[in-house]
Amino acid sequence: MFDKILIANRGEIALRILRACKELGISTVAVHSTADADAMHVRLADESVCIGPPPSKDSYLNVPALLAACEITGADAVHPGYGFLSENARFAEILAEHNLHFIGPKAEHIRLMGDKIEAKKTAKKLGIPVVPGSDGAVSPDQDAVAIAKGIGFPVLVKAAAGGGGRGMKVAHTEADLALALTTAANEAKSAFGDASVYLEKYLQKPRHIEIQVLGDGRGGAIHLGERDCSLQRRHQKVWEEGPSPVIDAAARAKIGNTVAKAMQQMKYLGVGTVEFLYEDGEFYFIEMNTRIQVEHPVTEMITGLDLVLEQIRVAAGGDLPLRQDEVTITGHSIECRVNAENPVTFRPSPGKILQYHPPGGLGVRIDSAVYQGYVIPPYYDSLVGKLIVHGKTRGECLMRLRRALDEMVVDGIETTLPLFRALVREPAIIDGDYHIHWLEQYLAGQQPG
Ligand code: ADP
Repeated sequence: MFDKILIANRGEIALRILRACKELGISTVAVHSTADADAMHVRLADESVCIGPPPSKDSYLNVPALLAACEITGADAVHPGYGFLSENARFAEILAEHNLHFIGPKAEHIRLMGDKIEAKKTAKKLGIPVVPGSDGAVSPDQDAVAIAKGIGFPVLVKAAAGGGGRGMKVAHTEADLALALTTAANEAKSAFGDASVYLEKYLQKPRHIEIQVLGDGRGGAIHLGERDCSLQRRHQKVWEEGPSPVIDAAARAKIGNTVAKAMQQMKYLGVGTVEFLYEDGEFYFIEMNTRIQVEHPVTEMITGLDLVLEQIRVAAGGDLPLRQDEVTITGHSIECRVNAENPVTFRPSPGKILQYHPPGGLGVRIDSAVYQGYVIPPYYDSLVGKLIVHGKTRGECLMRLRRALDEMVVDGIETTLPLFRALVREPAIIDGDYHIHWLEQYLAGQQPG
């Protein structure tokens, strides 16, 4: 096992990793920008190192500063959390070159899944169903209209290097296609430095359902069921739940076993998420995330497994905690991502938290690094915290969530709490009857179809 882990992240996930390290008896090193000197993860870590000024590129993405922090503190492993360097294959290689462990998958798997075109090809080869689309990137000299007609309109133009919903444009008809191709390519070029785009069938009312996996890197891999992340705004998840209201045990076992088998063949190491769109009873692979995800607590609540702790264990060469037939799904869990944003316009609302009261009680969990008097800096994402609730049934979970949301107080800044208080009372949400476009339609004041 590792002796000392450097946590190359901030906010709630840095605190989350710190908790797992403490339970494992591993020493912790926090790193922080000058803007985060008062952050909770810095206060609670055994040691801390300032790695630069506020902008991420000069601090949390500053590889030489992170290496120096490992050297100074004698850390033997780095946990990247999510975002920042978590899916940077080169970073994993550089750590290895310095005899440091990267707590995550093998660099080759990060690279493979980071290229969405290659990821899709690999998934197909491994027997995972994919969204119908172009065979790889669409080059300017190709007849994109013919390819799109072959797939059938509407089509979605997607960036090969995509992430965070950027570089994605819908073409409803042949006339829209040229513009969608150039806008997506330009957006991809400026966001990721890679203009390659591909085409996919645009699904009209799918759900976003993802399978959580855990691999030991030696050919052992299990799946831990699904999360339904269909409530999204601008392709960003807002509310996640598990199990999905539309997946039964047989469907779960079928897609889960397909994914677990693929991970066994790849000899995948660590935690990962295989993401699908789901429509009319069919799963379509869209991408794989090779890191811990924001919504991982949903799976922890229904399986009873600590995913970050298991992630650290397998990275250190440990075995999987369970066999597939020992995995059980108990009850229901919902996570709300509470952001420091205006609940109507979604304008970021950084600033000082004057009053803070996190809800409590049975089945209520808050993953957050804020406290009363904490100032949310304007430089990073606007997550205040995640409210995660568990109940024996989906009904009990909703009842508890309603109560917990009403109890939670975050004053001094604007938050998206009012949105969640409304959503948890919406008939369609209560019925579990929603899809990936539902929230945008609801927010636009339309009757979601
Ligand atoms: P990113 O890496 O940018 O998050 P994804 O491929 O994971 O991109 O897609 C993000 C979201 O975009 C999905 O959850 C879904 O809402 C939407 N999306 C992606 N592909 C399609 C598609 N073929 N049809 C309809 N919606 C899609």
